[in-house]
Amino acid sequence: MKLDYIVVGLGLAGLAFVEELEKHGKSYVVFENNSQNSSSVAGGTYNPVILKRFTPVWNGHEQLEYALPFYEKISDKFNKNFDTKFITKKVFNSIGDENNWFTALDKPMLSNYMKPEIIKEKIQGVIGNFGFGELSGTGRIDTTDLIKTYRTSLLENNKLINESFEYNQLEIGENNLRYNEVEAQRIVFCEGFGLKQNPYFNYLPLNGTKGETMTIHAPDLQIDFLLKSAVFVLPLGNDTYKVGATFNWTDKTQVPTEEGRKELVEKLEKTISVPFTIIDQTAGIRPTVKDRRPLVGIHPEYSKLCILNGLGTRGVMIAPTVAKNLFNHLENGQELDEEINIRRFLKEQIA
Ligand SMILES: Cc1cc2nc3c(=O)[nH]c(=O)nc-3n(C[C@H](O)[C@H](O)[C@H](O)COP(=O)(O)OP(=O)(O)OC[C@H]3O[C@@H](n4cnc5c(N)ncnc54)[C@H](O)[C@@H]3O)c2cc1C
Repeated sequence: MKLDYIVVGLGLAGLAFVEELEKHGKSYVVFENNSQNSSSVAGGTYNPVILKRFTPVWNGHEQLEYALPFYEKISDKFNKNFDTKFITKKVFNSIGDENNWFTALDKPMLSNYMKPEIIKEKIQGVIGNFGFGELSGTGRIDTTDLIKTYRTSLLENNKLINESFEYNQLEIGENNLRYNEVEAQRIVFCEGFGLKQNPYFNYLPLNGTKGETMTIHAPDLQIDFLLKSAVFVLPLGNDTYKVGATFNWTDKTQVPTEEGRKELVEKLEKTISVPFTIIDQTAGIRPTVKDRRPLVGIHPEYSKLCILNGLGTRGVMIAPTVAKNLFNHLENGQELDEEINIRRFLKEQIA
């Protein structure tokens, strides 16, 4: 079987790259072994404002302008809506928060999203004595459904193989690559935290940050917006809400923990004042990088080996843009931004 590309991993990164391949009529096959689940357990929210500091997310506005039509196109393709748009309400914890909100409003990009009025009215079931700041233009991609739907479709079209990609079986030739019966021009590795097993690219400083979320049932909490306080509370419908997320830099397993649950419950009890029951808990590893920028580009020694990784905590917004950047780099010779190019990490220096 002769193909243009092999793609390893079908999370948000792999999906966004496959969309580029589809758009440009390239042939490909994807390998997926369900070893990582960051994209499937993610909250899936998008918001170009960092709510801890009221500062812009790196390139957030531009990424979102490209990402929203990208997800809309996929929704149309599958006749399903993956994107739910909603307002985000940030709980203020002090008068200082209110002042910082007003200061941030003077910044041009932020004023596209942050509303100038502060909400002083109480919200039923929500703890907030200093008011709320409101953001528009935010929302959520149902990444669980998106990934599942996309994989099913690829499988039906014989473009996905539910197997582990075995690195030691890859033969790198002068003009092409061979992997068992597949011959391809290039391979793009999109393994998320699974990159650690990849002998070609595991020199890159992917740290990985474990995140846990829980789903709760809270019938007295009647909110239809994303609430952001010590945790986020995301409405899922039928009185259920996703609550998250934890950040753990040492535990690299994908197992939900008692410790994670305790932390989420404690923070949730400071956020809402109504009873709730926990109905689910999940965990995954975010592919975070030392310098908080994606890992994109071509292997320093093997020009047919490429990588799309390091989407960090904001894969929903970043993936479509960096997939386009990588495709244009490979197919049209467009330079990659040095900030995302893996060239910034020299193999010898890291080893
Ligand atoms: C708790 C939590 C909450 C989050 N919330 C948000 C949020 O609200 N908004 C947001 O934008 N982002 C969020 N994120 C971050 C987001 O999930 C990531 O940025 C994104 O999903 C990373 O996508 P990826 O495709 O790079 O990695 P992954 O989703 O991990 O995908 C990699 C894929 O490669 C496969 N793979 C690996 N090795 C192999 C192999 N050898 N052979 C075959 N297949 C292989 C894995 O099985 C996996 O499916 C959250 C993450 C977590 C954990």
